[in-house]
Amino acid sequence: METLGCPKNAVDSDKVTGSLLADGYTPAASADDADLVVVNTCAFVEEARQESIDTILTLSDERKTDAELVVTGCMAERYGAELAAELPEVDRVVGFGGPVVSEETGWVPVTIGGARGSEPTMSPPALDLLNMPRPAPTAPWAYLKVAEGCDRKCGFCAIPSFRGPQRSRDSLDIVAEAASLVDSGVHEIVLVAQDLASYGRDQGVGERGLVPLIDEVAAMVERVRLLYLYPSELNDGLIDAICRTGVPYFDLSLQHVSRPLVRRMRRWGDGDKYVERIHTIREREPDAAFRSNFIVGYPGETEADHDALLAFVEEAQLDWCGFFAYSEEDGTYSADLDGHVPEALVRDRLAELRGMQDDITASRRDALIGSTVSVLVDEPGIGRSHREAPEIDGIITVPDSLEMGTFHDVVVTSAEGPEVHAVLPAHAATEPVA
Ligand code: SF4
Repeated sequence: METLGCPKNAVDSDKVTGSLLADGYTPAASADDADLVVVNTCAFVEEARQESIDTILTLSDERKTDAELVVTGCMAERYGAELAAELPEVDRVVGFGGPVVSEETGWVPVTIGGARGSEPTMSPPALDLLNMPRPAPTAPWAYLKVAEGCDRKCGFCAIPSFRGPQRSRDSLDIVAEAASLVDSGVHEIVLVAQDLASYGRDQGVGERGLVPLIDEVAAMVERVRLLYLYPSELNDGLIDAICRTGVPYFDLSLQHVSRPLVRRMRRWGDGDKYVERIHTIREREPDAAFRSNFIVGYPGETEADHDALLAFVEEAQLDWCGFFAYSEEDGTYSADLDGHVPEALVRDRLAELRGMQDDITASRRDALIGSTVSVLVDEPGIGRSHREAPEIDGIITVPDSLEMGTFHDVVVTSAEGPEVHAVLPAHAATEPVA
């Protein structure tokens, strides 16, 4: 199983793997050792699509002669038949609506959304990945997907067109999966969805849905972290619930801050509103950590919009930020907008923002030197505090002797950009502090 894209895709891969193991398959170490090669693709933006195609072709070359190559995930759903036509190497393209290419080999179709090609439906498919079992994780942390799809209409985003409308899982199923993860040795659960903060909204329980869920899961495991928070949903109740988990980590999907451009993106808020929320959180929890993502070069983006984002990044002092070039997506609102921003200008703006943020991230890491932080050891020598989400933020290097899946208080002795180094308090006195 080769997984591309976001943490939600990683959970889907886990669930597909779970169903294959249940069908008698065994994991192979690599593609050239497998009878079945599955690529779970990403189709969010052009760059991700290119990476998906490159991966499919690479694995096609690496696989055994008679091995089957199956492509699933967002590209399969979004481009199904075209993909099958373009890539004869692929034996099966399995979208969310089941297999679209020959059924002879009896491959079990994987469904996430509604029937192929029709308006994504609200009704759960026969074989619903969301609630399927998954194999025991190998890391002391795991993503837990609480919903599928999204009801928002952000101008640049095609996800609702192929992942369908928001479909929240029953909280009992989520809690049951959390319990099995904890039984398998997980100490940190990362709640994910396309629009996590809207969890339960489609079930008619509104805000009440997410906060009690966070509290329930937090009562079962040492750490609960949330990813993909839409800013308008970040009310005091949610902030308090996140801080109650002991992991004051706020992943705010902001995308831009200039009011006219945010409106043009068909999104809520602006820089002033976001700064107010960040200040409110820091007053409540001075140690809170923040991550966000921004799109650069959205149609109509002016120099003034760019300056507003630069000023926001400077003022907000977020721990982690991702800056991405706007990617025109078929069928999205923004694809028909005027005001195209030249690529060279997008590159310049990206470089300026990334340069500024790298300095901010480095200075926030430097500020940790000499302090004691609590880490979860993910693997020998590698730990994370509440400030680092798995796989996307920096790490904390710790003594190799610390056992995976254990928590330790360590003293930070030095920092190099996003990475910091730490030792046990007993050794801090003798360790040179950079
Ligand atoms: S919240 Fe916006 S960006 Fe995120 S999945 Fe939904 S439509 Fe796309």
